[in-house]
Amino acid sequence: MLGIYVHLPFCESKCNYCAFNSFVASEEEREKYLNVLIEDISFFAKTNKRIVDTIYFGGGTPSLLSANQFERLINVIKNSYKLHKNCEITLEANPNSLNEEKLNCYRNNGVNRLSIGVQSLNDESLKFIGRRHNSTEAIEKIKLAKKYFNNISCDLLIGLPTICCDEYIKTVKKLIDAGATHISSYMLQVEDNTPLKNMVKQNPNLLPCDDECAEIYDKVVEFLEKNKFHRYEISNFARKGFESRHNIKYWTNKPYIGFGLSAHSYIDGKRWACGERLVDFYKHKRTMEEVLGEREKIEEHIMLGLRCFKGIDILYLKKLNYYIEKNQFYNQYIGSNVLIKKGKNRVILNPKYYEVNNLIITNLMP
Ligand code: SF4
Repeated sequence: MLGIYVHLPFCESKCNYCAFNSFVASEEEREKYLNVLIEDISFFAKTNKRIVDTIYFGGGTPSLLSANQFERLINVIKNSYKLHKNCEITLEANPNSLNEEKLNCYRNNGVNRLSIGVQSLNDESLKFIGRRHNSTEAIEKIKLAKKYFNNISCDLLIGLPTICCDEYIKTVKKLIDAGATHISSYMLQVEDNTPLKNMVKQNPNLLPCDDECAEIYDKVVEFLEKNKFHRYEISNFARKGFESRHNIKYWTNKPYIGFGLSAHSYIDGKRWACGERLVDFYKHKRTMEEVLGEREKIEEHIMLGLRCFKGIDILYLKKLNYYIEKNQFYNQYIGSNVLIKKGKNRVILNPKYYEVNNLIITNLMP
């Protein structure tokens, strides 16, 4: 089985915190990009024999494409690849670029999962981070999308100024009441070369500190779990059966191919990335190509395994000549219940320690 990721880097404006490869572009540029993307997608299909069971349109803002452009794009995938009958097809959308015509088009063309970039339901905060929607529109669009899709994910940022724990809980409740079946709750990161970085430089106390964010995250986790949203990755929560099958592929080293600017692929132990600049992408250039060696495979297995519910497979590590039981931290962590054994050959990270997962992962490396 294969996952397909399609990157659509265009946005209506750039958010203050955003360091993704996304930008504002003219209609001509979007058309040109779409044509190259379509070429790449159909070209790769000639050598691919795998059945596709997940497709993810991410960005940028994929919902900026017109209904006609989206149809052209998805049709080339459908006509070039064999799709599994239960193929999960996700599209990322911003509330302000969703409307009935597009929702209809997505559903008629097989999209069955919508991921909406809500980020906050506090109008001041939405302005602060440069989003184009307000809280009323966000809720209206989730409810509208619910008429077309059962499977709806909402992104939420933790770490915005002036929002207290209670307000976060109320936000999560409103998202669930409006119809969300999946919540991705990320910590706001201050990335280099973003307006937010400058704002924080000028006012170092602008954002809540790590401890405050950790407290909010814990309360959000508690609330979501009470409402039957189980945490299946550090930032991802879903009702049973609504986990993102596409993202699980990334976290469990399953093969996927990425099309579009900066898109990454991983197939048969080989990893590569498309060009980060349009000029390179238009020439079909790759910026990185590597074959994972034993050490990289071990590191990746530990890192990804402890970030999600799958955990570490001890036998798999042994096959790669890493005997993790000989690592002093491993035994300490087992003894202190930081790591929990699942059967004979699997260990998972105790969810209580998710927030310090980076340190634990580092200590468990060979
Ligand atoms: S909409 Fe998303 S991708 Fe586009 S600028 Fe904002 S955060 Fe970045």
